[in-house]
Amino acid sequence: MRVHGAHLLVPTPPTPRRHVVLRFAVSAAAASANVTPADATRKQAVIVGGGLAGLAAATHLASLSVPFTLLEASDRLGGRVATDEVDGYLLDRGFQIFLTAYPECQRLLDYPALRLRPFFPGALVYLGGGDGGGPAFHMLADPFRFPIRSLSSVFSPVGSLPDKLLVGLTRLRAAATPDDAILSSPETTTATHLEKLGFSPSIVERFLRPFLAGIFFDPALDTSSRLFELVFKRLALGDNALPDAGIGAIAAQLADRLPAGSVRLNARAAAVDPSSGVTLDTGETVPGELGVIVAVEQPEAEKLLPQLPTRPKKAGAAERSTVCIYFSADRAAVQDPVLLLNGSGKGIVNNMFFATNVAPSYAPAGKVLVSVSLVGSFVGREDAELAGEVVRELGGWFGPEEVASWAHLRTYRIGFAQPDQTPPTMPAGRDPRVGDGVYVCGDHWCSATFDGAMVSGRRAAEALAQDKILSGA
Ligand SMILES: Cc1cc2nc3c(=O)[nH]c(=O)nc-3n(C[C@H](O)[C@H](O)[C@H](O)COP(=O)(O)OP(=O)(O)OC[C@H]3O[C@@H](n4cnc5c(N)ncnc54)[C@H](O)[C@@H]3O)c2cc1C
Repeated sequence: MRVHGAHLLVPTPPTPRRHVVLRFAVSAAAASANVTPADATRKQAVIVGGGLAGLAAATHLASLSVPFTLLEASDRLGGRVATDEVDGYLLDRGFQIFLTAYPECQRLLDYPALRLRPFFPGALVYLGGGDGGGPAFHMLADPFRFPIRSLSSVFSPVGSLPDKLLVGLTRLRAAATPDDAILSSPETTTATHLEKLGFSPSIVERFLRPFLAGIFFDPALDTSSRLFELVFKRLALGDNALPDAGIGAIAAQLADRLPAGSVRLNARAAAVDPSSGVTLDTGETVPGELGVIVAVEQPEAEKLLPQLPTRPKKAGAAERSTVCIYFSADRAAVQDPVLLLNGSGKGIVNNMFFATNVAPSYAPAGKVLVSVSLVGSFVGREDAELAGEVVRELGGWFGPEEVASWAHLRTYRIGFAQPDQTPPTMPAGRDPRVGDGVYVCGDHWCSATFDGAMVSGRRAAEALAQDKILSGA
């Protein structure tokens, strides 16, 4: 069975945003003139970790003419934001979407160069019961962005009419609330917040829980209400999109602007000592007279910097984990660039989409890329077994003949996708100074988003530069 019923409006591409060259934008050529890697006598800062936070810190240090070396443990930059090219398919390491309204991203990234391809701003919800019991899929569109389209969803069983209006009103209210007010608002869990806002259990179970679980990897919706409001605001103010070249293009754009010779790959930090610098696991010491910025993921940061306050682990608190399974196919069962959510309450699939409907560049010509996301770690389950279960489950959604041509491409298991963001949180960010000459950034120091990671990187770089100016170094 092919699902033609959705017939969604194909959104127009987001308005190209000109690359805004702020005081932090770096010209690689100019930056290399300031930073001479061969000069072993110069004083420098060291950045540990080359994810978005470390890359943002590096971008800002370069624009402030602070010499630095960025040490990255793996063989590539970008951290959790990565895309693999496999036989002509672009496979993002886990389902990730770029929200064009992220303010820090707007400042740092060249949007037109990313060639962003937007999703339809809504979701197609699978409720099941299609065999003579009404349609299996129900479209949910934002009533304030797509008033005509949303009319068709008014009578769908995904929540009541007041629920649907409430979704739009919540987005409008979030959009009109300044970030400062959201980030300092009294916080509770997202589950409690949704209840207080007046959403019915039906829309929570059928739409909001699977939608938000796919964003926060937290099906219990224990994530802070501040994060929920912040993400809803960004969703209201812009598009969800994928870069033509895969999500890794975001990190690649920052990396490409760094001064020549400023990055060392396959360089794992084992210890940080501001007086001497950073010791690698090989025993080599990389001096960091101007300071050390630690931009690694939370568990690693806690190992490198024992002085960091660690959050007591709540009993039963789950890791924020996900499994993303890719298939190639000959055709797409749905023709629109829309996210499909599992609102049936059954099965292991959280969400799926036909990536090539959003960005045709994600597969070779004539082929379709299917992306399926599960929430959780599924430890103890073999890749082949999980892929088989997913195909059988989605055969129930679309019909067995529709999934018969699907071939398993690759499975990504992301054990640590995001830090714990349950209350109490500080998504406005914390002081990056954690010791004399030692600074911390990363999504765990702000909010677990592309934007939060970049904001934290900028703040760490600014703090380091300010301290050096004050100390006359
Ligand atoms: C599957 C998935 C989906 C996501 N979806 C979204 C989304 O849709 N939208 C959104 O805004 N955000 C999303 N996020 C969150 C976002 O990707 C992260 O918040 C952000 O990328 C974190 O960046 P970071 O620089 O703080 O950390 P990381 O990306 O983890 O970077 C840390 C870097 O440090 C390196 N490192 C670690 N230890 C050492 C060491 N000892 N020495 C040297 N280097 C070291 C690591 O190799 C890594 O490169 C998603 C995350 C995942 C995993």
